[in-house]
Formats: sequence, structure tokens, C-alpha cells
Amino acid sequence: MTVLVTGARGNIGSRVVSRLQAAGQRVRASARDTLDLTAADGFDDALKGVDSVFLYTTRGSAAPFLNAAREAGVRHVVLLSSPASYEAAEFRGPIGRIHRAAEQAVAESGLDHTILYPSWLATNARRDWGAAIRAGGPVELPYPAAQCVPIHPDDVAETAVELLLHDTHRSRLQILTGPESVRLDEAVATIGATLGRSIPVREISREDALVRREAWMPAEILESLLESAAAAVGRPASLTNTVERITGRPARSLQEWVVENRADFDR
Ligand code: NAP
Repeated sequence: MTVLVTGARGNIGSRVVSRLQAAGQRVRASARDTLDLTAADGFDDALKGVDSVFLYTTRGSAAPFLNAAREAGVRHVVLLSSPASYEAAEFRGPIGRIHRAAEQAVAESGLDHTILYPSWLATNARRDWGAAIRAGGPVELPYPAAQCVPIHPDDVAETAVELLLHDTHRSRLQILTGPESVRLDEAVATIGATLGRSIPVREISREDALVRREAWMPAEILESLLESAAAAVGRPASLTNTVERITGRPARSLQEWVVENRADFDR
């Protein structure tokens, strides 16, 4: 079995690569600089002899890549999508549109595929709050009472690997969640409990959140995320047992991820 992993340096992609290697599978790891999924052609070498593909959602069309994959004899594609694709708050927003377009391209390619919908990646905590926590300052949240279901990135990767290698659980979609719905300020408190110090949370307005936007975060994407957080205030999110059903082990907690990554939050 040869698996092509796109985004092999990515948070989830790199974990997919290491787990496939640990399982003794042949892995072709690719990155955007050598295999741009939105290019018009030039995919033949990367796809030669490939049985299944781990695919990231891209901001341009991957249709030519997918057509080349079908012609090369690829048997299954696992697409990393997002619940933004169908959740009411983001459905019309850019995150929803980008992910639906990627799903449509996979469906139209005629390739057998599984779409993964992971909940809130635990790594968001490091991306969004890491700097503030390391600096000892407050974590600024526009919607501290918004609910999310943190999922450990290893659970997403391990589920993807199972689907890339075996056809038992392949189907059109798989909704992956962690074990518990928590408020965003409770997620911050979980990090504080692991670090052994209280991390202050400061509620800020939506307008301030937009003003303080990081340069790497496009304004329309932040607007969409804020929309989604506003809709999640006081609404515990649904849980699924998909991770356990597919991998055979229960989904890891946020606390487990924080313990493994506490160095990223230490002062
Ligand atoms: P990540 O670490 O940012 O990695 C994204 C990868 O995608 C990168 O390795 C990048 O390749 C690759 N990529 C993007 N465009 C490409 C292109 N045109 N050609 C080739 N490769 C391309 O992301 P992650 O944390 O693993 O996963 C994030 C994704 O998960 C989101 O984009 C979303 O689709 C989904 N998701 C996220 C959440 C969340 O809570 N954050 C929730 C549900 C779903 P290079 O490294 O070579 O640039």
C-alpha cells in the first residue's frame, strides 16, 4: 500500500505521515513547494503507484489534481474538511464555502472518498492563546462562553490513517469530536490547571477582536470564526463516538494534549 500525504509538514499531515511509517506503510510525503494541489498539471510522478491520498482542503481548486489521481488509479481519498461546511453560522461564510468547494471537487472527480469533519483542533489553543499565556497576560476572548469540543490532533490523524489503509469504515463522511464540550474560558482554565497557575481571561468586544487580528488571519476568515463563536454561546456542541469506533480507542481529552504540550505555554 502506498499512501500520498499532502501537507506533510502540516499539523495533522505530519502526524499522518509518522503513523503510516510506524505501521510500516510506504508513504509519499508532499508539500506545497513540490506539489501544489491547485496547479493545473504536473502530478504524474507524485501519483504513480499511489493507492490512497490524504488531502487537505485548499483555497483554490484541486480538481486537476483529483482527475489526475483518478487516472493514476488512486482507490481512495481522505479529505480533511471542516464542520464549517454545514454548520449554520459558517455555512455562507468563506470557511464554509472553501470547504464545500473542496468536497464538491472530490465528489465530482468520481473517486471513492471519505470526508473528515473534525471539531475544534486542540492546537488552536497554542495558535490563538499561546503567546498571551507565555507572556503571563490575559487571554482575550470575544465570546468566552462559546462552546467548543477540543479534539486531539493525534485522534484526527489516527482516524485518517485507519481510513487510508482499510476500507472497513470508509463512507462519505465521518464527524470527529473530542470527548467533551467546554466553554472557551474553561479550555483556558484547563491549560492553567496543568501549568499550575491561574490564567486570566478578559472578555473583549467583537470590534476589538477584529482590530487585534493577527496579520496571518484574513479578516473575512476571522469574521466567520467570530460568527461561529457567537452562535456557540451557551450551546454545548454534539459529541460523536467516531474516533473510538474507527481507531478502537476513546478520544483523548484536551488535558492530555495540554500535558504533552505544556512547554509551549510555559513562561
Ligand atoms: P496546517 O498545519 O496549517 O497545514 C495545512 C497544510 O495544507 C500545510 O502543510 C500546507 O502545505 C497544505 N496546503 C495548503 N494548501 C496547499 C496547496 N495548494 N498545495 C499543497 N499543500 C497545501 O493545518 P492543520 O492544523 O493540520 O489542519 C487545518 C485544517 O483542518 C483547516 O484548514 C481545516 O481545513 C481543517 N479544520 C480545522 C479546524 C480547527 O479547529 N482549526 C477544525 C476543523 C477542520 P505546506 O506546509 O507545504 O504549505
